[in-house]
Amino acid sequence: MGTFKNFIGGKWVAPRTKKSFPNRNPADLTDIIGEFPASDGRDVDLAVAAAKEAYDGWRRTPAPKRGELILKVGQILTRRKEEIARAMTREMGKVLKETRGDVQEGIDTAVVHGSEGRRLHGFSAPSELPNKVGWTVRSPIGVAGLITPWNFPLAIPTWKSFPALVAGNTIVLKPASDTPHSSHLLVEAFEEAGLPPGVVNLVHGSGSSVGNAIVQHSDVRVISFTGSTAVGREISATAGKALKRVSLELGGKNAMIVMDDADLELAVEGVLWGAFGTTGQRCTATSRLILQKGIHDEMVRRLIGRVAALKIGPGLEEENEVGPLINKARVEAVDEYVRIGRKEGELVCGGEPLTTGVFKKGCFYAPTVFTGVKPTARIAREEIFGPVLSILAVKDLDEGIRCLNDTAYGLSSSIYTRDVNRAFTAMQELETGIVYVNAPTIGAECHYPFGGTKDTGNGHREGGTYPVYEVFTEWKTIYVDYSGSLQKAQIDNRKNE
Ligand code: NDP
Repeated sequence: MGTFKNFIGGKWVAPRTKKSFPNRNPADLTDIIGEFPASDGRDVDLAVAAAKEAYDGWRRTPAPKRGELILKVGQILTRRKEEIARAMTREMGKVLKETRGDVQEGIDTAVVHGSEGRRLHGFSAPSELPNKVGWTVRSPIGVAGLITPWNFPLAIPTWKSFPALVAGNTIVLKPASDTPHSSHLLVEAFEEAGLPPGVVNLVHGSGSSVGNAIVQHSDVRVISFTGSTAVGREISATAGKALKRVSLELGGKNAMIVMDDADLELAVEGVLWGAFGTTGQRCTATSRLILQKGIHDEMVRRLIGRVAALKIGPGLEEENEVGPLINKARVEAVDEYVRIGRKEGELVCGGEPLTTGVFKKGCFYAPTVFTGVKPTARIAREEIFGPVLSILAVKDLDEGIRCLNDTAYGLSSSIYTRDVNRAFTAMQELETGIVYVNAPTIGAECHYPFGGTKDTGNGHREGGTYPVYEVFTEWKTIYVDYSGSLQKAQIDNRKNE
């Protein structure tokens, strides 16, 4: 067990508070990964000052050069992939196959944004006046505050930091208190790649202290936040008053529709992965399964057998398919929803914390399924963020689409059908930021836009290239008039006809 530090101005430094918090393995709470800084606003001030000082040098560094450094970070992550994946599983519980995927996503993101340093396209258009040209360039914004959750503790910080940096911003990163180690390892990669001091800063500590101080700081001009809708609303209100750019990636209540004509075996595979991958702790997790009546009973029968057979246990053991929840508070929150669910539907599988034998020291919960859930039930409407699936029955596609859209969130959706007309109708009518056909609601690729509608965010998209640079850059429009005379745009010189 070690004592970890913040990274400010290119140095690893202890927090001003001189306080720390333990980071525990959720599969075995007696296993402490390390003590991490319980920083406060004073540490944020130092980090923002370092980022501000580094900004001019960094924004003047040619973008292709900035991109090269991000590519180098990607190479370091590639070399350390297995080590980081194991550390991540120990820190937040998901199984090794998934943490390897999380690191790989960071590597892929480095490839996308590292090469974007050679594009960062603006555009040109013909001027309305003779002997005049205009074009646009993307300019960085300044110091970016990045606040991240624990469920993708490497991928999400890379989704934010790589494009922010390639665009020429400097950053202050605050990772979730449950996963400080994964961000520590990422920042080690930045350090080894040779980014100039102050370009990347890392401050550990609580959301209410460090996160809030970042949001409030007048020198932080853009905030990118992934987390709960409740915290997103607070951040948006605070940052809105200061006219800061804010990108919010928030919660989800994603659903999969399975039509009578679907390949049921494929749908069962999809829902198992969508609902119970990452122990249901994904913003894109499938938490509602909407079944057309003709296949309802058969689909439930097939699914229950498979859910009951899922291998649960510590993620570091390769044979396990479902790891623990992130912490005890999450076990309690999930259990509370299961108590509510018992009154709202029929519990057909799971429904309790796992507390004996191999599960004794950890935060495990049995994969849980409810049938007979009405669209008005709380377990059909509220984000549970755990291994709980609510099954609803509908008579046809129209009812299925209405039911799927009937939620405050709008992140991801899915339909299983072999009928092309139904598939295209769903693509058109589903109100989510991501729509899958014959695939579960999870599994975003980093070069496509990621994000959702309604309470899932505030209209921005991260991921992809064009969308995320809308978050991290300002447009600058440049005109050059080489006519040698005063030409007046916006003046109507046309004679009346
Ligand atoms: P939280 O909103 O509680 O935390 C997210 C981050 O915000 C953490 O770093 C947290 O710090 C910090 N934070 C907490 N309070 C504040 C505050 N007042 N000001 C600034 N920062 C703050 O979410 P969870 O960690 O519980 O993550 C789960 C949620 O994230 C789910 O709702 C899920 O849907 C959503 N999510 C969304 C994704 C998306 O892309 N749409 C992807 C992944 C998750 P600390 O850890 O110290 O509390």
